[in-house]
Amino acid sequence: MKEYEEIQVTKKVLKSITCNKCGKSKEITDFGFEQDEFHSLNLSFGYESVFDEERWKFDLCESCLVDFVKTFKYSPTITNI
Ligand SMILES: [Zn+2]
Repeated sequence: MKEYEEIQVTKKVLKSITCNKCGKSKEITDFGFEQDEFHSLNLSFGYESVFDEERWKFDLCESCLVDFVKTFKYSPTITNI
């Protein structure tokens, strides 16, 4: 037999998201679809990198992401999810 006790848990809820490049910001509603307009990048640098042991985390809005990708010599591979 198991007995349960109700407890209060504190958790972090995303309130807003801001593009690190242009500063565009969106408040996040209960549905959270607004965050689909942004993309989080999490980069870890390894031993041979000049940024060894650093981790970079940032968010880009889709407009800034597209502008960044347009600077590529070769287009990224695009597939449907
Ligand atoms: Zn942006």
